[in-house]
Amino acid sequence: MLNIVLFGPPGAGKGTQSEKILKKYNLVHLSTGDLFRLHLNNETSLGLEAKKYMNKGDLVPDQIVISMVEDKINKSSNVIGFVFDGFPRTINQAIALDNMLEKNNIPIKQMIALKVDENELIKRIKNRAKTSGREDDKSIDKINNRIQVYNEETKPVADYYKKYNKYSEVDGIGEINEIFLKLCSKIDDLN
Ligand code: AMP
Repeated sequence: MLNIVLFGPPGAGKGTQSEKILKKYNLVHLSTGDLFRLHLNNETSLGLEAKKYMNKGDLVPDQIVISMVEDKINKSSNVIGFVFDGFPRTINQAIALDNMLEKNNIPIKQMIALKVDENELIKRIKNRAKTSGREDDKSIDKINNRIQVYNEETKPVADYYKKYNKYSEVDGIGEINEIFLKLCSKIDDLN
């Protein structure tokens, strides 16, 4: 089982790189942002609840996120491994994920962080806003709030994985394929 957490601030390229990793290694994508957007589009009660937080760029409360992830893991069968993208975003979520995976004896192998500076993140998200249709990409205040939430609440999750020697990082600036190759070399080292 090859479970990876692809980590990084909003706009770091987690979604783009996840897609490439899934194809190459036959893994399953578990993006909590995508799952919430699906609920939002389908106007489910979970989607409507999450929308209150997402549209401001705030984190959806842990319990809601954790139950959604648990449900997705339980419903996935014959999986070689997951790429977690946008999850865990708090220490509580990281602990909950460890507990879920431990039950099934399939721990996280590695967190790989994409390192991108704030100016570049803002530039990328503004660019993405032209086509993403995402409410949270639209205003600079929302973008700044998401980066601040990342710095305050999500960054410490890296220390959690460092403690278990499960952390590595890759420069997230450059050509998409060049970054992908660097990620592949980290992943290949895990096998
Ligand atoms: P993303 O697509 O990962 O940028 O996520 C979009 C938004 O969904 C975030 O700004 C949060 O409002 C919400 N979200 C996604 N993943 C999580 C998570 N793990 N914990 C809390 N909120 C989340």
